[in-house]
Amino acid sequence: MSEQILHGIGVSPGVAYGPALVVEWRFPEVRDRAIGPGDVEGEIAKLLAAVEKVAGNLDRLRVRVAERAGLEESKIFDAQILMVRDPDFLGACEHLIRHNQLAAETAYEFKALEVRVAWGSTANVRLRERLADLTAVQIRMLRALVGDPDDELEITQPDGPVIIVAHELSPGLTVQLDRDRLAGLVSEEGTRTSHAAILAHSLGIPAVMGVPGALGRIENGTVLLIDGASGIVLLDPSPADLREASTQVSRRRKFDLELEGLTAEQCVTPDGRVIDLLANVDLPEEIELAVRHGAQGVGLVRTEFLVTGRTALPGENEQAEYFRRVASAFPDHPVTIRTFDLGGDKFPAAFDAPVEGNPFLGWRSIRVCLDQPDLFRPQLRALLRAAVHKNVRVMLPLVTRVDEVTGTRDLISEEAAALRAAGIPAADKLTLGAMIETPAAVVLADRLAEVCDFFSVGTNDLTQYTLAVDRGNARLFSRFTPQDPAVVRQLRSVLAAADAAGIECGVCGEMASEPLTAVLLVGLGYTRLSVAPPTLLLMKWLLRRIPYEACRAAALEALEARSAGEVDAALKKHAGPFVDVHLLDPHGPLPARRGVAV
Ligand code: PEP
Ligand code: MG
Repeated sequence: MSEQILHGIGVSPGVAYGPALVVEWRFPEVRDRAIGPGDVEGEIAKLLAAVEKVAGNLDRLRVRVAERAGLEESKIFDAQILMVRDPDFLGACEHLIRHNQLAAETAYEFKALEVRVAWGSTANVRLRERLADLTAVQIRMLRALVGDPDDELEITQPDGPVIIVAHELSPGLTVQLDRDRLAGLVSEEGTRTSHAAILAHSLGIPAVMGVPGALGRIENGTVLLIDGASGIVLLDPSPADLREASTQVSRRRKFDLELEGLTAEQCVTPDGRVIDLLANVDLPEEIELAVRHGAQGVGLVRTEFLVTGRTALPGENEQAEYFRRVASAFPDHPVTIRTFDLGGDKFPAAFDAPVEGNPFLGWRSIRVCLDQPDLFRPQLRALLRAAVHKNVRVMLPLVTRVDEVTGTRDLISEEAAALRAAGIPAADKLTLGAMIETPAAVVLADRLAEVCDFFSVGTNDLTQYTLAVDRGNARLFSRFTPQDPAVVRQLRSVLAAADAAGIECGVCGEMASEPLTAVLLVGLGYTRLSVAPPTLLLMKWLLRRIPYEACRAAALEALEARSAGEVDAALKKHAGPFVDVHLLDPHGPLPARRGVAV
């Protein structure tokens, strides 16, 4: 059985099954070809014609993506078009054609390989992340030069739902596929943070990436069963596996229908504790789902998508426009916008970021913003302009010091005065909060509360920095336990500090989006949770079933626990009598997941 299973990274949850459609999107065969002096101009013209053709195709793709996934997603293609037209690169190709008398495709392939090797071996994470874009562009150019069709644009899907299998999924491929005939995605390359993974997630397509050898093992038409949560791909599943998967899919659909019925209901426990349920918005497409599922505002607007995968920093107007758009979707509720949380692997190409040995302990988040007024001031101005809508609030990521908050307040006052002087409509101050996502912020919470209007706990980073466990390291997956007593105790103490100072304190990390840990947060006293939009109704369903008293009993036990395992046991013990624990994991385990270390 085990040879029938491939393992990868689950990047977009959900169970899917269907026949594979293998997409061979590879570099074409290029023969080395020398030319005579009389052919030079013709080859250069051929190179430039290919540039026009590929740029035109990419532009059409950009329009298609803008229609299907939104304007911001389509900007990936702006970056690719710039790469196609890169004058330095084309100049170098022209030089080879003219002085070494190489044919256009030979010269292009030669230079392309040189750049790919340089980017692939660099320590610069940004360049390595953009390698997928570069490769996509080079494949298109070489196919145009040797006269092969641009298959990715002309891919035809059969009628039934298929699972696309590719070496690497480009954002363009992911977005243009017909959702009704697409069951899932599998690729050999890619991680959770690749553009295509983020897109698959926001479009709700189950996807497994980073599956080594997938193309060698899977043929067109091979029936696959994939689990986009655990990253398992089953080849030729048995009828029993398929039956179980189909039961899970229908159970999920039935449960979804039940959840839809709760949209207009309040999130209140059976013993009357009201919980505010807000949404986290990472991509603009999520706004609509958050509104439709009755979010009471947005507890975290991540602004990094305005920057990653782009060649230029977003301007003040573009940011103000986006912030207004989110704010006007929730006219009666707060919308909390987080200032740029750049650093680690998230730097715009236009930004000259240093290569660091330990980027997650390095020049990140609020540190970058305070050190780079050219980046920070336009964002603060955009926020002040959007805050004319009274519901806009602002919060700072990765705060470790009081002066990061006071320093930001000073900048806000200066920018407010400048906007006033210029006669531009804007708020004259901002409701300003701190994300509590470092142990330093927890310990200093009483002092931070003196300068903050509210707190929002980022449990993802708080767990990472408390347990010293890299949140992105698959090898440490089982050690990344947000319910660890060391984190739970901090969650209690930060809420106590906020309560003592009379300021609001919510949670926007993933703990709020996981059923059992949400119960723990409510039991600790949190009444404001900001969750991933697809989990809004599930959380409401859950909290409407479990009495606050049971949540509290679970939290009290958790505070006394010795380990994350003991906390889990306490949560299950106290929640178990009120909910079917199987429904807490509606995606459920695939048969193959049993006994498999993920
Ligand atoms: C967090 O760290 O919990 C958080 C919400 O921020 P991010 O996941 O964007 O780092
Ligand atoms: Mg964080």
